[in-house]
Amino acid sequence: TKYVYRFSEGDKDQKELLGGKGANLAEMTRLGLPVPPGFTITTDACRAYLASGAVPEELSVQVTRALREVEEELGRELGAADDPLLVSVRSGAKFSMPGMMETVLNIGLNDESVRGLAEASNDPRFAWDSYRRLIQMFGKTVLDVDGEHFSEALEAKKASRGVALDYELDVEALTELVGEFKEIVRTHAGIDFPLDPRAQLDMATEAVFRSWNTERAHLYRRREKIPHDLGTAVNVCTMVFGNMGQTSGTGVCFTRDPSTGRSGVYGDYLVNAQGEDVVAGIRNTLSLADLESLDRDSYDELRGIMRRLETHYRDLCDIEFTIERGKLWMLQTRVGKRTAAAAFRVATQLVDEKLITMDEALTRVTGEQLTQLMFPQFDDDTERDLLTRAMPASPGAAVGRIVFDNAEAVSRAEAGESVILVRRETNPDDLPGMVAATGVLTARGGKTSHAAVVARGMGKTCVCGAEALEVDASAKTLRVAGREEVFTSEDVIAIDGTTGEVFLGEVAVVDSPVMTYLRRGLEEALDTAGDVDTRELVTSVHRLMRHADKVRRLEVRANADTPEDARRAVHRGAQGVGLCRTEHMFLGERKQFVQNLILADSQEGREAALAELLPLQKGDFVEMLETMDGKPMTVRLIDPPLHEFLPDITELSVKVALDRERGTLDPADERLLSVVRRNHESNPMLGLRGVRLLLTMPGLIELQVRAIAEAAVERLAKGGDPRPEIMIPLVGSVRELQVVRERAAAVLAEVSADSGYALDFPIGCMIELPRAAVSADTIAEEADFFSFGTNDLTQTTWGFSRDDVESVFFKEYLDLGVFGVSPFETIDERGVGRVVAIGAERGRETKPDLKLGVCGEHGGDPESIGFFHRSGLNYVSCSPFRVPVARLEAGRVAI
Ligand code: ADP
Ligand code: MG
Ligand code: MG
Repeated sequence: TKYVYRFSEGDKDQKELLGGKGANLAEMTRLGLPVPPGFTITTDACRAYLASGAVPEELSVQVTRALREVEEELGRELGAADDPLLVSVRSGAKFSMPGMMETVLNIGLNDESVRGLAEASNDPRFAWDSYRRLIQMFGKTVLDVDGEHFSEALEAKKASRGVALDYELDVEALTELVGEFKEIVRTHAGIDFPLDPRAQLDMATEAVFRSWNTERAHLYRRREKIPHDLGTAVNVCTMVFGNMGQTSGTGVCFTRDPSTGRSGVYGDYLVNAQGEDVVAGIRNTLSLADLESLDRDSYDELRGIMRRLETHYRDLCDIEFTIERGKLWMLQTRVGKRTAAAAFRVATQLVDEKLITMDEALTRVTGEQLTQLMFPQFDDDTERDLLTRAMPASPGAAVGRIVFDNAEAVSRAEAGESVILVRRETNPDDLPGMVAATGVLTARGGKTSHAAVVARGMGKTCVCGAEALEVDASAKTLRVAGREEVFTSEDVIAIDGTTGEVFLGEVAVVDSPVMTYLRRGLEEALDTAGDVDTRELVTSVHRLMRHADKVRRLEVRANADTPEDARRAVHRGAQGVGLCRTEHMFLGERKQFVQNLILADSQEGREAALAELLPLQKGDFVEMLETMDGKPMTVRLIDPPLHEFLPDITELSVKVALDRERGTLDPADERLLSVVRRNHESNPMLGLRGVRLLLTMPGLIELQVRAIAEAAVERLAKGGDPRPEIMIPLVGSVRELQVVRERAAAVLAEVSADSGYALDFPIGCMIELPRAAVSADTIAEEADFFSFGTNDLTQTTWGFSRDDVESVFFKEYLDLGVFGVSPFETIDERGVGRVVAIGAERGRETKPDLKLGVCGEHGGDPESIGFFHRSGLNYVSCSPFRVPVARLEAGRVAI
């Protein structure tokens, strides 16, 4: 097996094998950009290592060969005593996992080569600083020594020399520090720091492989739905130095602003610094524009490369670069992560610049991102107490009590509290706290700091670099420059990730501009938009939504039970109602009539109860049909288990027993109890419900169908265009549907004869039992349409009840990998999905034009929508809030 690829051998499409970083380093090398020479060890090697616990022997041999090639190319040897070659060992999986996998810089330094580096660079301070960094990073990431030991020693050294900044330490101090760091390694790792350069390289490589399986990495992958078996690649890259004095530096930049999407380059730069210094937010950075005045040539070259990369990748790129004594080096690029707003804006900007087509633009945005843009924002018109203003790093509006550490964030969030994680800066250890918090606020770091990058990836509100804050994590206090108060974990703050503002106390929230657009249309959204950025965003969303509507094949309907919900859904672009549940029409004060119906022992009693319900139901339908005029409206006949309409068995038993003892027993209660007992079920989910209830309770079908028919007549009489579709739940056998259909048809015919209007409404059924799907060819004989009820179908296919399992064993099942994600959230394609496909296929064997829809919650889930599209369904129906998301996703999958 070929485990090692030189950068000059691969390309950007080999992410699977070389990881994202490796594939893009190769691509940049191919483009002739200044990438330091190096090679990539493949993900195959990582998987082989993880499977066997040892590095394959072939790999060692191939590494030697690749390393010698690099050495020859540069005329330097790894860790040699004079002018040594140094390398970095960098992880890089297929998907970028910020801060998950560790990188070790300056590999190859030891007690001898450090002197060689000092001589070659003519800068002993720099050489010793690089050496102490190596021991520190190597100790932490390869040998698992707690990083605190090193930073404490470093702080102590600075204090003893009376200096504030790392680079103010002189050679002598750094030499001492190297000795102290080695001692720390010896004490805490139980071994000596390895002086052999190749041993350093091999140990670091193994550590990268191992880091694939750390808890942090698992947590991140679970959140991001990244498979656990991909493995990571390892990149070995010649070191270039941003810490060789004032003409050197390191930076991160973006070809467009990844936070607002504004066009124009964006970046952070740090003079005389190495690697992670920028990202860690340890010192506050300069902006890219400052580089222009510091080093015009490098700046111009970088701008040229940025433009070239953007044209090449035809997307926003992010870039890591280093300048070593005036020479620019490219260390990384990739198609950059961005906020939801930036995704929409950049997509349409690229269309306008004629770099991509509208179809491609649509594939660059997701339903998930649209959802984020629909979140509410702070109300500009309320009184607000501004504490400070800092870097808007990840948009949204978050309000909560302050927490200062992870454990507290996690425990208070679990207790249902909304909390804001406030830190000086964050590092990968803070991930659990960031997940738990509603927002993140840091005192240090720019838009490319750890906090910012990770928060953006999670869609979490984040404000960073708030220098006015003085965070004391151990005392759990927060002070703000210019204010007297001391804030604690009892105080509420509000952070605005779009403006960077931090407020004290609760702040009211209002509709986002995109929500205004979805609710009230483009014109009004543009009118109320405060600035150009907002106007451009709203326009981008509008253009992409319109394009999605144009290309999609799936129709989008909404689940709506009330006229209000139906109206909301129509405003958001729903083309009909795919599920109008009727059970609420029997609850509340109407429950009594249903009870009367259940208790009635005579024909008259039943009829009286039905007569009370008819006008009420009809009224409900008239309003709904009016709202949905001209659009299909699928009405599902009653579905829930009978017992939901009866009093609770335990409560009633206790009452009857007490009353009997006291001699105050009402005979009606006694009779009610016997009915409740008779109808009590141990598994109501699988009991007397749906079509079973309809068939066993005389008069129910007739009542509901008559209410629909008469409501339709009323609408027709007023010139309306009612389009109800009657849907029968929980059908398992064609015979059930046949009986209901006959009775329903009789009612429709009767109302039609009385009114003179033709009422040939479609009658169909839900497919939510495996038996129905499997025998769909026969069921289709009696059905005008099918609607897959994927919630129940998931329960009945797996054989578990959602209410019970979600609280009991889902977490374990997710941890064990039985589910990648809850099957109630995203359709389980291999199981439940196949049942859907079978139902669709067999139904259409009988009726090629059979209309097929989905009305489970999956109808609004971005991933599931793709599956439904591929399965040839006609529509998805989802909650009104999800309608725009479904439209967008249906467009994306049609491309
Ligand atoms: P991450 O995936 O966390 O960004 P990287 O492997 O990109 O990890 O490296 C971490 C930091 O070290 C980055 O700032 C990167 O630019 C820097 N770095 C990595 N390799 C080198 C190298 N060969 N020379 C100089 N700096 C490097
Ligand atoms: Mg990087
Ligand atoms: Mg159901």
